[in-house]
Amino acid sequence: MKQRLHFTFGPVQEFVSEARKTADLWTGSYLLSYLAAHAINGALEAGANEDDFFLKITGNPLLEAVRKPDKPPENAAFATVGSLPNRFSVLVASEEEGRRFADAANDGLGMAWLMAQDACWRYLTGRHAPLEDVAHVWDRQVESLWETSWAVSDDPRALARRKLMRVFEASGEPGRKCTVCGRREELGNRGFWQPLSKRLGAGFLDAMKERLCAVCLVKRTLPRVGEEAFGWKVLGETFPSTPDLAADPWQRKVTRKNQHEEARDGFSAAVEERFESAPGTYFFPSYREDLPEPVVRGLESALPKLLGAVGSAPRPAYAILVMDGDKMGERLSRLDEEGRVELSERILDFSLRVRDAVENGKGRSRLVYAGGEDVLALLPKDRALDVAWMVRERYKETLEAFDRRHRGKLGDDSTISAGLLYCPMTLPLRTALREAHRLLDEDAKEGAGRDALAIGAWKGGGEVLRVARKWEHEDWVEKLLEMTGVDETPYPSRFLYQAQQMVRDQAGLENLEQLLALEYLGSREEKFETQNMEEAEERISSLMEISKVDGQLDPAIFRLVRFLYEEGA
Ligand SMILES: [Zn+2]
Repeated sequence: MKQRLHFTFGPVQEFVSEARKTADLWTGSYLLSYLAAHAINGALEAGANEDDFFLKITGNPLLEAVRKPDKPPENAAFATVGSLPNRFSVLVASEEEGRRFADAANDGLGMAWLMAQDACWRYLTGRHAPLEDVAHVWDRQVESLWETSWAVSDDPRALARRKLMRVFEASGEPGRKCTVCGRREELGNRGFWQPLSKRLGAGFLDAMKERLCAVCLVKRTLPRVGEEAFGWKVLGETFPSTPDLAADPWQRKVTRKNQHEEARDGFSAAVEERFESAPGTYFFPSYREDLPEPVVRGLESALPKLLGAVGSAPRPAYAILVMDGDKMGERLSRLDEEGRVELSERILDFSLRVRDAVENGKGRSRLVYAGGEDVLALLPKDRALDVAWMVRERYKETLEAFDRRHRGKLGDDSTISAGLLYCPMTLPLRTALREAHRLLDEDAKEGAGRDALAIGAWKGGGEVLRVARKWEHEDWVEKLLEMTGVDETPYPSRFLYQAQQMVRDQAGLENLEQLLALEYLGSREEKFETQNMEEAEERISSLMEISKVDGQLDPAIFRLVRFLYEEGA
């Protein structure tokens, strides 16, 4: 039996979710992939064979960039999207060789982190950040951050089984805690941050609300020092904020309609920014106090006029999409060597193509991570369902092509599941990420039995709906896309509301469907007018089909359709 070195490091999920801004989230995720690339590079330089990795690494753009810093890869995604997980497995001849590769991986990762945090230190002290006074805190925090762990075994799940990764705790951190992670000591009080925040310019740090630890400060600073820290410029600070994502559907819609040209031009002149690329914060009054004085003055005169002319305002919500291949490890373990190599190639190909599906030029959709069969993306509400469906379709194409050659080998496990959360732009990112992952793990995978999509929505501080189905249950996703992909709703909002109540209160009633058709027939608005019951039943037939689970109507679908209309743009 062949032995493998299993190498892993962390913390991962908590490190990524310790983010106040979407840019922090992006940086955390990207940094993890970058460090993983250096760990792999370390093992390769110690003699590990590129072809012996359990998951294919050849052709990964980020790894290529790390291995050949002088020759940036053609695929520009290396500088914008994280694409390597925090673990790898590689064939080794002996325990001794495994130890050597693991040490080299550990050194590669450690050195890359040292360089990255040092670039931040130099940038900040170069702008007179009084870091020398707290150097002992900085060193303690950055040095104790990463835990690595490894094992040599012939069992592909060795690491998970042996639970070698201890749960990361910033134990013994004294004093007041960082406002972002809430776990490590803050570097200083407001007197420390206020002058620093001024020197670093608008948008870097909010000294009224934020006091960071060294790790969270490094995360915040990294995008500014991409060249020194990573060796290339990174996306970082231009990552859309949650208000950018929230305002995006509305900005696109208003731009599409030529009749508002005058109002848009007036707005652009007043704030000295083109309407279509203006930051989302301009359109939500709650951000007014964070904006520069001239912009605020411009907005006070121009925004009411614009909103009046357009007749609508942006909704303060956006979407988070997380996806994960079902049972990928088991699937790969079942295949022979040749099959595993080929499937692993397909998986890499899939992860590289995800970016096109997410960022297809329409709006501010952004892919944060796509590695193996994992996907994390932040999306404007009106694009979210479409993107989830497209990514799933690409996944299916990729795996079906494989299955045609290796008939039966994959069984029913060659599927992917998704959690899609619609949430308020002010919901803490950590909460939003946790909820999106819960939808994926508990609702799509456990509840709906994998190969499924779970959709959740929050309004204010709480959940308003949650629904999970197999992707192809009565073609519900495609039907939802048809229903909501148009400007005009095919159902009156009042009908959807009434229907939801009726289904909830009278579940199991024999003639419920006729009652619903009757309710539709009674809609008074002209555009929904129907002549008779038959026509009304026809109009609501799609809705009935996707609402049914085991013959019973589910009120959550009516709530979802209503939500997608109301929050669509
Ligand atoms: Zn922190």
